[in-house]
Amino acid sequence: MITPVGQLDCLVIRAFISTGSTGSSGYRGNNDDFQWRCEAELEKPLDKLFDKFLQGQSIFRNRNALRPTFVPDKLPYRDEQMSRIASILGPALRGAPPSNILCYGKTGTGKTVVAKYVLKALIDKATDSSVRPPLSAFVNCRIVGTNYRVLRSLCEQIGARMPDGSEVPFTGLPTDEIRSVLKNKLDEEANILVVVLDEVDSLLKRDVTQGNDILYGLTRMNGELKNSRISIIGISNDLKFKEMLDPRVLSSLGEEEVVFPPYNAVELKGILEQRVSLAFNDGVIADEGVINLVGALAAQEHGDARRALDLLRTAGELAERRGDDKVTQEHVREAQKILERDSVSEAIKTLPMQSKAVLFAVYALTKKGKRDIFTGECFNVYTEVARALSLDTLTQRRVSDLISELDMLGLINTTVISKGRYGRTKKIRLAVSRKQIGEVLDSEPRLSRIAKDLFE
Ligand code: ADP
Ligand code: MG
Repeated sequence: MITPVGQLDCLVIRAFISTGSTGSSGYRGNNDDFQWRCEAELEKPLDKLFDKFLQGQSIFRNRNALRPTFVPDKLPYRDEQMSRIASILGPALRGAPPSNILCYGKTGTGKTVVAKYVLKALIDKATDSSVRPPLSAFVNCRIVGTNYRVLRSLCEQIGARMPDGSEVPFTGLPTDEIRSVLKNKLDEEANILVVVLDEVDSLLKRDVTQGNDILYGLTRMNGELKNSRISIIGISNDLKFKEMLDPRVLSSLGEEEVVFPPYNAVELKGILEQRVSLAFNDGVIADEGVINLVGALAAQEHGDARRALDLLRTAGELAERRGDDKVTQEHVREAQKILERDSVSEAIKTLPMQSKAVLFAVYALTKKGKRDIFTGECFNVYTEVARALSLDTLTQRRVSDLISELDMLGLINTTVISKGRYGRTKKIRLAVSRKQIGEVLDSEPRLSRIAKDLFE
């Protein structure tokens, strides 16, 4: 007897084989025994699925309307933030440089989409009113990565070239030189350049000194420009990022601050409803409970609109792959499991090596049968792991910070317990399944080698 999950595996894997697609939800069928079940039950599910195509029914009208890059016509619940940013940028229409702005709020609270939306509206307004539109540049600092590449991206976006007319090279120019290229281009006319530095915290997390350097350099560029001015909109997902900023950078970058609070379940529902008619064919969403459930689940996840849209899209894709007519609450619940699994794996994979070593220590102790682990025990195993990996051994204090970070990421749970006159310590437990951590850590060749030594 085939299970619904088994059916799904068959279909997904068949789809991989036939189209080479990896599937946007990252779902992978991984049952060893799928092959014979696929052979045995192949006809029925595929027939049903193909029939839907023949009949012209499909789940999605336009699934792109659920993707993070889609900018909708309206952004409900962000009037306050949009009008704040618009009134700060407004002077650019009269040629006066706007103050710098720092926007912060957790992921999926609309910071990126609001910044893009307001900037586009400003440029459109200038064009309609026949005034000189401000120049704009948008840089995702996490993706772009290094200081050099941020500056290079700015040059590229405003069309700044080397004195000989060639493009700014990918590497190799001294910082001063690339800054001059940028400034010379800007000063050709009286320009206002609005720079959006999205996920700006990642520059500081990569290297606090370097991160502060580039931000300081950009905020001071106005003193060096003759005709033009730069305004910066810095966007951060991390509320504590201000603590990493040099006070001089903070006072300049944080001239104005705009906070993006999380959305509640009702607001998430409103955002979803706006997209449903764009994304899905009529009548595909089984009932109102579907959207309510997506809103409620994403609200638990710190009110993240991106999560809500991903959840709805993944639910739709599940329905589509199964050849179902409608998206139901069951699809939503299953989509939630898929996204949870993917996001935990992603969180572990992207950890810095030292944090992986600490997590690995907790995992190793858990695997050896310990349920509650004290900081000291974790530290001892961590030092062994760090040594085996030829990493610098961090101090207990630093390891304790990494433990707190892993807690914030939801990978472990910690509780502080008092040991009377011996002070306080932390009790640590894994917050996600051991199997899941094991799978990701084992896929790291260096860690899987020490896992063998430790466990065999
Ligand atoms: P952040 O930059 O804060 O992480 P984004 O701006 O990328 O969040 O928003 C995440 C997703 O949610 C995007 O797809 C965006 O279009 C959508 N979104 C966020 N806020 C709203 C809103 N108020 N109305 C409509 N869609 C929104
Ligand atoms: Mg963003």
